Amino acid sequence: MCGGQFDSQDEMDSHAKQMHSNKDEQEEHSIICSKCGMKAKSPQDLATHGQQHSTSS
Ligand SMILES: [Zn+2]
Ligand SMILES: [Zn+2]
Repeated sequence: MCGGQFDSQDEMDSHAKQMHSNKDEQEEHSIICSKCGMKAKSPQDLATHGQQHSTSS
């Protein structure tokens, strides 16, 4: 993340929410494969990933 050192998980979480909750990260995390839960970086990335599910089995 930013290399900061924290005494506890709670401190790190609150820090991350305040300092690293930018819009790009939220958009990135909103595209998720419904079959395996993988986080895609873009709709195109998700489409390419989805082909792997349809070809196997
Ligand atoms: Zn940080
Ligand atoms: Zn998947």
